[in-house]
Amino acid sequence: MVHNILRKYGIRGGNHDQHFLVDERLLERIADYGDIQADETILEIGPGIGNLTERLLKNAKKVIAIEKDPELVDVLKDRLGDNDKLEIIHGDVLKVDIPDFDKVIANLPYSISSEITFKLFKHEFKLGILMYQLEFAQRMVSHSNSKNYSRLSVNTHYFADASIIMKVPRAAFSPPPDILSAVVKVEPRPSPFEVLDEKYFLSFVTALFGQRRKKIRNSIIRNKQLLGIENMKEFITELPKDMLNKRPENLEPEEFAHLANIMFKHKQGI
Ligand code: SAM
Repeated sequence: MVHNILRKYGIRGGNHDQHFLVDERLLERIADYGDIQADETILEIGPGIGNLTERLLKNAKKVIAIEKDPELVDVLKDRLGDNDKLEIIHGDVLKVDIPDFDKVIANLPYSISSEITFKLFKHEFKLGILMYQLEFAQRMVSHSNSKNYSRLSVNTHYFADASIIMKVPRAAFSPPPDILSAVVKVEPRPSPFEVLDEKYFLSFVTALFGQRRKKIRNSIIRNKQLLGIENMKEFITELPKDMLNKRPENLEPEEFAHLANIMFKHKQGI
């Protein structure tokens, strides 16, 4: 029983994003969604006391578990350290170099969800089964013309197919968090639309969502320096009018890419 393990080691959690999953059925389901094969390396971020880790270890070739809290690293070593399929990395996931992995399965520290997700998108992997705060999960999977559609939605759509596969109640954790959670399935794939320069595209999306209420035309003019186009007022007439009249929440991911590509070509003199 996971509750007993918390008691045995005197772990209370509650701070530093520490809410441990104690619902045994849910832990099994999360591991099952990973469909782990015998030749696969699984990355777990924030393994905590190792309740998910021990389930991941059953089928995987290897599990790499990155944990920041030294007290929890000691618990992990004590509980699962004998298993030579487990590699524990003691460190901050945002600072360490993440080794190669096939799948990432984790109940994440919610306060750094964005940073972790963007870091993961820089890696090649087959599948992610990731627990987030519900609102964050909803923003990841949102489509245009909805209030949750954001920079995160466009970025996620660019890198992967993502869907919410289950909502998780507070009672599944110890201590229970104040918020609801959800598990997101992330399946990386090539972008469904052309992007000439990834960095330029991503910073364009960030700049536009930074001014959510403004029309695209006004945001682009305001951000001319960032976009590297001096004569923006004249140049903007070359961009599709229908897109310029929209607001970021009404622009499809491929329309962001279309605009970014035209501006990038102009900037590069292509
Ligand atoms: N996976 C465990 C579970 O489901 O019971 C614990 C999940 S808890 C929500 C998040 C875990 O991430 C905690 O163990 C916490 O110490 C760890 N953590 C927080 N910030 C971290 C960071 N920057 N790098 C690595 N681990 C971190």
